[in-house]
Amino acid sequence: MSQQETHGFQTEVKQLLHLMIHSLYSNKEIFLRELVSNAADAADKLRYEALTNNDLYEGDGELRVRISADKDKGTVTIEDNGIGMTRDGVIEHLGTIAKSGTADFFKNLSGDESKDSQLIGQFGVGFYSAFIVADRVTVRTRAAGHNADEAVLWESAGEGDFTVETISKQTRGTEITLHLRDDEKEFADDYRLRSIITKYSDHISVPVEMFEAGTPAVEATEDSEAVPATEGSWKPMNKATALWTRNKSEVSDEEYQEFYKHISHDFADPLLWSHNRVEGKQEYTSLLYIPAKAPWDLWNRDRKHGLKLFVQRVFVMDDAEQFMPSYLRFVQGLIDSNDLPLNVSREILQDNKVTTALRTAVTKRVLGMLEKLAKNDAEKYQSFWTEFGQVLKEGPAEDFANKERVAGLLRFASTHTGEAKANVSLADYIERMKEGQSKIYYIVADSHEAAANSPHLEVLRKKDIEVLLMSERIDEWLINHLTEFDGKKLHSVTRGDLELGELEDAGEKEAQEKLQTESEGLVKRVKDSLGDKVSEVKVTTRLTDTPACVVAGEGEMSTQMIKLMQAAGQ
Ligand code: ADP
Ligand code: MG
Repeated sequence: MSQQETHGFQTEVKQLLHLMIHSLYSNKEIFLRELVSNAADAADKLRYEALTNNDLYEGDGELRVRISADKDKGTVTIEDNGIGMTRDGVIEHLGTIAKSGTADFFKNLSGDESKDSQLIGQFGVGFYSAFIVADRVTVRTRAAGHNADEAVLWESAGEGDFTVETISKQTRGTEITLHLRDDEKEFADDYRLRSIITKYSDHISVPVEMFEAGTPAVEATEDSEAVPATEGSWKPMNKATALWTRNKSEVSDEEYQEFYKHISHDFADPLLWSHNRVEGKQEYTSLLYIPAKAPWDLWNRDRKHGLKLFVQRVFVMDDAEQFMPSYLRFVQGLIDSNDLPLNVSREILQDNKVTTALRTAVTKRVLGMLEKLAKNDAEKYQSFWTEFGQVLKEGPAEDFANKERVAGLLRFASTHTGEAKANVSLADYIERMKEGQSKIYYIVADSHEAAANSPHLEVLRKKDIEVLLMSERIDEWLINHLTEFDGKKLHSVTRGDLELGELEDAGEKEAQEKLQTESEGLVKRVKDSLGDKVSEVKVTTRLTDTPACVVAGEGEMSTQMIKLMQAAGQ
């Protein structure tokens, strides 16, 4: 119609397109999952907007997605009657990547295609995956509530740029046509499409339909009339009921896994999940997933996280972070509440009794999932710990009420195993404590090597007392908030007094006193020459091989904490 404009893709989109085409060749069919997923999201968004403005339905409230192919032209079309996009929306959503940290993500790719393809999977390829199989993509879309002549035509060959043009489109929603590459024409086959769609869309809550040809005409016989040929009709390929509303026993593992991929944009299967319907004082359903791998932006402060929120099965918002404490920000999934109002906003959620109750319940549920995993499948738990342990360590500081439970889930390296692998729990430690030992000993150092070889360990080693070896950045922070577990104090071996209690034998005390008097002259000389640099010089029996070491006084900041504060610019 008019006003055709050419726009360049954002640099990161160009990089994504290039990488995707070259690295996702073994997983081509995922374009269909991404596009159907977007169409279903568009239906969800319209349903939500229409709650307050029923006119948006324009008399057509039967939301669905339709997929068709044209073998001769070599095209596949995915069409929805969801929320649609405006011209500005198209330019923004189909020309840029909205995720924060995207530029950094691309900077960090290795250039090794097989490695990068893994990362691309975690990043989420979304709409742009259309170009895995197409060398030209045409989008026609009209936003709900806009006039027919305010529709947009977007087109691109997936190289540097795309065009947009204002057109007329009677029906609301989005129609995406893929012009398949010569060697991808197999996708323009009804049978092939059908098999992919059944695999990817059973959990989708709107019908995903394909056209089925009518039955052929039946000739009239002597005793029956002729049956006219039917035109055929659109038939749903999926169950089209929201997966979490179904009974657990009726949902297969594959369906749970597919649903996870739909909501998380992850390519890999989740590590575990838990689906629960709760009735009584609160009424809600939760479906929570623990991913197998940490997302690329787990440490990005602006990363969106949280659960999808539904109210009485209507989608309300993505990334409702109010339901999950930050130290569980890796959890994916949804919550469907019967107690929140449908018009709930983020502001209302902030300060709401129902939210608090749900958050408490969901947090407990996740901790329960992890406890169960730790108990039943140590190996799987270990792989969880490797991916998310550092995040979980924020828990004791953040979640006072669940401090003990979170502490129970922590894993550390220890002098007992002699390995760098963090696989010792506080409970394991306590079980191995020596007769008369009342404290849990630990050391925090810059590296595992430094911790394991610290002279501070010597005396404990001599007495065969286990020490937890900590060397992650977060550990000092953790240990400041976790001072006790199961009634036992955590005690740093670098602190002034080791408080070995009953483990210290009487002879030792005498020997120390004797040494003390004998060494007075030496101690004075050392003190004089160090001057203000130290507050005290003491004779110690805690070292066996090393002549001297620096310790922090009781109640003073540890050397690690000082380093941490310095690094933070304080
Ligand atoms: P994501 O789905 O993770 O947001 P995508 O790349 O898949 O990322 O899609 C980008 C954006 O384009 C969507 O967030 C949405 O705003 C818009 N979009 C894509 N497909 C559709 C559609 N069928 N209807 C309406 N909007 C769409
Ligand atoms: Mg998407």
